[in-house]
Amino acid sequence: MARYTGPLCRLCRREGEKLFLKGTRCYTEKCAVERRKYPPGQHGQNRGKLSDYGLQLREKQKVRRVYWIMEDQFRNYFEKASRLKGITGEVLLQLLERRLDNAVYRMGFALNRRESRQLVRHGHFTVNGRKVDIPSYLLKDGDTVAVAEKSRELQAITESLAIAEQRGFPEWVEVDPKGLSGKFVRVPSRDEIQLPVQEQLIVELYSK
Ligand code: SF4
Repeated sequence: MARYTGPLCRLCRREGEKLFLKGTRCYTEKCAVERRKYPPGQHGQNRGKLSDYGLQLREKQKVRRVYWIMEDQFRNYFEKASRLKGITGEVLLQLLERRLDNAVYRMGFALNRRESRQLVRHGHFTVNGRKVDIPSYLLKDGDTVAVAEKSRELQAITESLAIAEQRGFPEWVEVDPKGLSGKFVRVPSRDEIQLPVQEQLIVELYSK
């Protein structure tokens, strides 16, 4: 399946939510969802009520878009979540939060998850002192993510971190901005993830 290459704001407008796919623009009044609160396209303002299936599909697409995951890979996460202990929908989100590219974004080393994925792929990070260039690498409680020695001057990282410092960090990571490192303290609870999604609908969709 091909990766989406169209306008990112269109994806947010389609879901009717801010998915924070860009970066600083998402926090300004220039955000397309703030300006046009209806789906894109000719019939965007005249769409009827969604069916149950439509609602389930939209919730799944929303989560895929937030974490920037392809359909097949997303399905694999679901399968894995359903085999693990706990509420499947919550476990699914927790698995996605444990991804290295997500943690890099949450720790403020990148403006969005697409950028963090690119940075990880290019070998700009270490986990517990060892280079890891696999964006889907799953972190465990207590793992330390750090900017690789050769990448400490990288403007994209330092600028993003400066912005993130002003905004603050989630409670489940501890960031040392001077040391350019962060600790993945623990897997976040569902409440902490603060994603406006009904994950139960995704479970229903895949359980058909
Ligand atoms: Fe989404 Fe950010 Fe564009 Fe707003 S500015 S629509 S949050 S990508």
